[in-house]
Amino acid sequence: MVIEVVVLTGAGISAESGLATFRGDDGLWENHRVEDVATPEAFVRDPELVQRFYNQRRQQLLNPEIAPNPAHVALAELQRAKPGKVFIVTQNIDDLHERAGAEVRHMHGELLNIRCMACVQIQRTSHDVDETTQCSYCGVQGQMRPDIVWFGEMPYFMGEIEHALAQAEQFVAIGTSGLVYPAAGFVAQAKDYGARCVEINLEPTAVSSIFDQGYYGAASEEVPRWVETLL
Ligand code: NAD
Ligand code: ZN
Repeated sequence: MVIEVVVLTGAGISAESGLATFRGDDGLWENHRVEDVATPEAFVRDPELVQRFYNQRRQQLLNPEIAPNPAHVALAELQRAKPGKVFIVTQNIDDLHERAGAEVRHMHGELLNIRCMACVQIQRTSHDVDETTQCSYCGVQGQMRPDIVWFGEMPYFMGEIEHALAQAEQFVAIGTSGLVYPAAGFVAQAKDYGARCVEINLEPTAVSSIFDQGYYGAASEEVPRWVETLL
């Protein structure tokens, strides 16, 4: 099956669902500096702060008020309408794409997964994690970390993403600032491979000029509009 469309999503697609984005200019995420909560160095320095930050993000995600919005739903519909032809990769660590019914690759990991640093097994959790948490595979205590790809770590699925970008006729980037690499480089790769590139965002971004077309406005309105052009 040849992939026709590669979709890259970022924090902006979940903003209308009530999850805060990284704020562009001041670089704060839920009042924390990214370097204090989203790097391996931060975890070594202050594991409690980092675990608390992700515990809060996890409980926020599980709040019954948080739900997929029409942008997540439209992408799931597109994927259903073109079986095997729509590859969705997200930088998001929430599970709103899945809740809308889509299958996605989480290149930066998932909030609801934790990983054992002793045996490298990943397990699903909806609970808080701390230094007393035990690995359900090897039984070791105090070695569980969020299965999140922090700055300076290697994103997941890079081979598969590259392969999809090479095939795509169309590449669309939704709600992503184009500042976090390697995801920010996907548009240039897709273009080199000959894809038509579309950006959907509240406003033009640092990389807008590379795209062939832009839809500027709220993802909940612009994504369904773009999906309609493909169906
Ligand atoms: P970012 O916060 O850097 O950029 C968000 C982009 O979304 C901005 O360009 C903004 O203009 C746009 N945006 C905001 N609201 C929008 C809306 N309603 N409709 C359309 N566009 C909208 O996010 P990023 O580029 O994804 O990079 C941030 C990193 O932060 C990622 O690596 C991700 O792992 C992490 N993060 C994830 C979540 C989540 O899982 N929901 C939330 C915050 C941060
Ligand atoms: Zn283990």
